Amino acid sequence: MNHCICPNCQQKIEQNSYAMLFFPFTWHCSHCKARLTLKSYKLLNIAFFAYLLLVIAAVIFVPIIRQYGISVILSVLGWLLFYQKLTPKVFDKRNISLK
Ligand SMILES: [Zn+2]
Repeated sequence: MNHCICPNCQQKIEQNSYAMLFFPFTWHCSHCKARLTLKSYKLLNIAFFAYLLLVIAAVIFVPIIRQYGISVILSVLGWLLFYQKLTPKVFDKRNISLK
């Protein structure tokens, strides 16, 4: 597994500093407070749209989700879970740059 390394101070970036963001446009390194950004959002974009399609399909084909109005909560929670799984791939050290 690749660790997320800050390009400024070369220290490991704590997962908590970005894991709670829904979509990481920019965040701060917890060691040196440098503003960091991703070089490429391609993987994240593909994953986001794949997830969006999944949610739309779930709402269309699983009527119980519509009935109780839980689709919004489910999709937000689902994205958080999905995003946690995705972070090691998206936050590869080659994909992080200083803003
Ligand atoms: Zn740093």
